Amino acid sequence: MQVFIVGAGPGDPELITVKGQKLLQTADVVIYAGSLVNPALLEMTKTGTEIHNSASMTLPEVIDTIVDAVGKGKQVVRLHTGDPSIYGAIQEQMDALKKHKIDFKVIPGVSSFLATAAALKQEYTLPEISQTVIITRNEGRTPVPEKEKLRSLAAHGATMCIFLSVHMLSDVVKELIDGGYEKSTPIAIVQKASWPEEKIIRSTLEKIIDEIKNENITRTAMIVVSRCLDTDYALSRLYAPEFSHMYRNAK
Ligand code: SAH
Repeated sequence: MQVFIVGAGPGDPELITVKGQKLLQTADVVIYAGSLVNPALLEMTKTGTEIHNSASMTLPEVIDTIVDAVGKGKQVVRLHTGDPSIYGAIQEQMDALKKHKIDFKVIPGVSSFLATAAALKQEYTLPEISQTVIITRNEGRTPVPEKEKLRSLAAHGATMCIFLSVHMLSDVVKELIDGGYEKSTPIAIVQKASWPEEKIIRSTLEKIIDEIKNENITRTAMIVVSRCLDTDYALSRLYAPEFSHMYRNAK
């Protein structure tokens, strides 16, 4: 196997998987998503590794670089931020590789919505509050299917992690309230979760726009909306003394 699509994790270079790190250390060619991957990860590469920033490349250029390297017997790491399966635009790369009959493996990564939960010290799935996490985005240049518009998803009142949308926050808040979240619903915005400059802002849907005005948060931020963020919840049954499960009998 010569080609690996690797999740770099959310920013902190120690949040790449052991497998991902080993592959970075042995790669001959690394193509990384320059806008979000922490450049500190590139320091793990051996001397002489050829490094490309895909931010300034087109899809055909990325594919040509991989095909060329494979032809020369080199090992390639395509490094994507967070987990590659979420807004990673990897499907088109994988399909192109298949057309070239180049086999590859995907190594998962810690997605930023999980690093955000860690930063918030928050469980997203509290009993009787929300047992569902919706990963979504507001419509931008990439269209969102009609049934998945924020307004429709809001009807569930579930925990929502909204990617790629902080620059349209007023629109997001309006859609969420129009869709059914109460104005008092807590919202947290985490910029650059797991990076040294990580920043957390907590508020409610009705107050956030005012409160974030002077913060200059325009990108690389996760929006989390959930009653989980402020509420009393029922205790998890998993650790309740009277609750038996596969690994423990009730007391
Ligand atoms: N595949 C990535 C997401 C890429 S889309 C993942 O699994 O995380 C880019 C969006 O991800 C950004 O607009 C932002 O919403 C979010 N994001 C990426 N890194 C982040 C971080 N460290 N903290 C908060 N949000 C982040």
